Amino acid sequence: MHELGVDAVLCSVGADLPYLAGYEAMPLERLTMLVVRANAEAYLVVPRLEAPRVGPLEEVELIAYGETDDPVAVVAGLVGNARGLAIGDHTWARFVIDLQRQLPGRGWSRASEVVGPLRAVKDAAEIEALGAAAHAVDEIAGEMRERPFAGRTELDVHREIADRIVERGHERVNFAIVGSGPNGASPHHDASDRVIEPGDVVVCDFGGTMRGYCSDITRVFSIGEPPAEVRDAYEVLREAQEAAVVAATVGTPCEDVDAAARRIIDAAGLGARFIHRTGHGIGLDAHEDPYIVAGNTTPLVAGHAFSIEPGVYFEGRFGLRLEDIVVATPDGPERLNLAPRELAIVE
Ligand code: ZN
Ligand code: ZN
Ligand code: ZN
Repeated sequence: MHELGVDAVLCSVGADLPYLAGYEAMPLERLTMLVVRANAEAYLVVPRLEAPRVGPLEEVELIAYGETDDPVAVVAGLVGNARGLAIGDHTWARFVIDLQRQLPGRGWSRASEVVGPLRAVKDAAEIEALGAAAHAVDEIAGEMRERPFAGRTELDVHREIADRIVERGHERVNFAIVGSGPNGASPHHDASDRVIEPGDVVVCDFGGTMRGYCSDITRVFSIGEPPAEVRDAYEVLREAQEAAVVAATVGTPCEDVDAAARRIIDAAGLGARFIHRTGHGIGLDAHEDPYIVAGNTTPLVAGHAFSIEPGVYFEGRFGLRLEDIVVATPDGPERLNLAPRELAIVE
């Protein structure tokens, strides 16, 4: 905070609050806000009726406000004369606007500038939680290789994957993308009532939250033997993914990891089809720092956890993506996802 000229961090909904205080704000019209001032007591301001949900707090004092109190005034009082204020990126605009009115003349920045770099570096317990979540979706990816796809709608496959995510111990499903045939060319396709046919290639990208930490994996399923074009493009993707994983050593800038994947896809003449970054950090949020993208010169440090997910998209025809979560360690990159990476041939 001192380095960034921040005197107080204000966190509401989003993952910064649970990361710092172990409590998740309800996304409601009643304000919940953690106030962290440099070298001073930290306070968690919550509506009185939600106070019983707050477990034991360490080094944070609870302030419960009444139904007719003005919580913005309570927070403004705690902020006092602090000048540089970093506010949680997901805070509702209505509260930001009211706080800015009651705290004129302050400098405002994003709390992610303070908390993001801390959250990006995982400790052993966090890596263990990410590993457990990754193992759960690995098993699902393996199970889906034995399941029939043809004749089912994308939504039907989506529901099966979502059910399995919960059965395997996640507390919630974050997404279960099922993009068949031409729909696979839309990287964030919403599962539809399109019926999967023999000859389709299906992109399945799914994950949830388990013990607070996220899983995220993508595997591709070919309904019957794929044509040479699909097979060849998939081999390029596998090679590109492997190259990026191998490149993800401590000290390597994030953008170099992206370039390692892109170089191989470019060389195969598919560069224009790789329309997104290579990956994103993962933790309490499914997408967080560090982003594996051109322009991000941040060097990887031990404990950075992120996806490596190159993809190529053939508009109107099919898409391919391969995604694993990787952790940078002093001994080199370690994959948390170990499900088979060969193109799955299913019925
Ligand atoms: Zn995505
Ligand atoms: Zn994904
Ligand atoms: Zn991802």
